[in-house]
Amino acid sequence: MEQIQRRGLMYVLSSPSGAGKTTISRALLGNNPDMTISVSVTTRKIRAGEVHGQDYYFVEHDDFRDMVDNGEMLEHAKVFDNYYGTPRQPVEKSLSEGKDVIFDIDWQGTQQLAEIARDDLVTVFILPPSRTELEKRLRHRSRDTRETEAEIRGRMSKAADEISHYSEYDYVIINEDIDRAIEKAQLILDAERIRRERMVGLSEFVRGLREGL
Ligand code: 5GP
Repeated sequence: MEQIQRRGLMYVLSSPSGAGKTTISRALLGNNPDMTISVSVTTRKIRAGEVHGQDYYFVEHDDFRDMVDNGEMLEHAKVFDNYYGTPRQPVEKSLSEGKDVIFDIDWQGTQQLAEIARDDLVTVFILPPSRTELEKRLRHRSRDTRETEAEIRGRMSKAADEISHYSEYDYVIINEDIDRAIEKAQLILDAERIRRERMVGLSEFVRGLREGL
């Protein structure tokens, strides 16, 4: 059977930091070779272990402003004390090639994408199983990223803020067990891929079927 042509979808994962979003998006990328991830631009300082062009494009504030002013960002927002934005061009290229794109962005960016591309958007919110577990994960991670106590505290209080937006999302995954959470994220992707309205080649396929009868 010939592959039915499909429009690429925009798969947004949001969560407070420490809920497992990065692990889940990496697993999805690994399991779906035709999928890409949108690499954001940020004014935040690079952390130990991060790679420019892979985790983020790290830029100066003025360069970020220029990109926004030139319409090069699909969405952008201030998160904590830094600016983050999604470069438009790579996303449009992937979608036009029928490739799905993962976005690791916050609720502000998700709202902006919903305004411009609701039909192509699938939004998933990841919740930690408990407050204690969230704190534990944040502290564990801070050993690798060398975050200060104040930064961890800041993230904890911002987490409450981010969590309050869960109800704006299509799906919610409570990340109690990472393998199960990855499975659920994949299930959502599989189901959304076969939504009738996403299969732009479907009517032609069905016409072919009927002609043969
Ligand atoms: P971090 O600094 O820990 O990498 O990310 C902080 C927060 O910024 C995370 O919640 C992440 O989802 C969000 N974020 C990362 N890139 C973007 C982006 O391009 N746009 C928006 N709106 N948020 C982003």
